[in-house]
Amino acid sequence: MNGPMLQSCGACCRRWQFRRGACPACGSAEVSEIAASGQGTVWSVTQVMRAPLSELDVPGGYGIALVTLVEGPRIMCRAENGLAIGERVTVTIRADNLPAATRA
Ligand SMILES: [Zn+2]
Repeated sequence: MNGPMLQSCGACCRRWQFRRGACPACGSAEVSEIAASGQGTVWSVTQVMRAPLSELDVPGGYGIALVTLVEGPRIMCRAENGLAIGERVTVTIRADNLPAATRA
């Protein structure tokens, strides 16, 4: 599985998405990288019909979702069309390095 990478605190076990040198919860520098399972639940989802950049423009628009991973962090990713809030999804990293959510 090619799931998103997270960081984890060795002191308090908090996990987060964006790289930091110290834990955002307790300040410990005992930080390690872990591979997320990619399993999660849709927290929010929308369809973008007018892309902010021409290179992101896709005929028919594209979905964006906030997914709460089972490991804890909530991440933004591309979304399969028709996803609904509360739906179980799998987040994988696409070839262009964007995370994408598809039905589990
Ligand atoms: Zn911590």
